Amino acid sequence: MRSQRQVVDYSLQKRAVLREVHSGRVGTHEVCDASPYLKNAARFHGEPTETLCPVCRRENLTHVHYIYGDELKQSAGQARTRAELSVLAMTLREFQVYVVEVCRGCDWNHLVEQFLLGRDGLSADDSVGAAEPVAGAAVAVSTGTSVRRRREARR
Ligand SMILES: [Zn+2]
Repeated sequence: MRSQRQVVDYSLQKRAVLREVHSGRVGTHEVCDASPYLKNAARFHGEPTETLCPVCRRENLTHVHYIYGDELKQSAGQARTRAELSVLAMTLREFQVYVVEVCRGCDWNHLVEQFLLGRDGLSADDSVGAAEPVAGAAVAVSTGTSVRRRREARR
């Protein structure tokens, strides 16, 4: 999505957990603990992937997108499909998305990434009105810097 920004990737943490599991230091029951809510979200709002589950290697992973933010009001904390995220990204200024991978076979689950979506992230070409105050602020900052530099030079 075009307005996606401030992406935080959790693949390092995930690899660390999987290393512990594969070495036997952590039992699969400790990491394969998807709640009934998460499993329902995967079933009704999840996006199928082509990636095989790293724990049971029998089922493909499902990605669930959870949304958070003040503008969402009662929808905050709910799961949404990618199509629904696209619509929200065009109507709301900013909201947080958490992507969780779930195996519907063995209940493995882990945070994949988080990022921001919303109109605030669109460039000037996409949304001229929304980008104007940002451009104005940048001009003010650079003017202030040049004034200060001139004063320092005079000293
Ligand atoms: Zn699995």
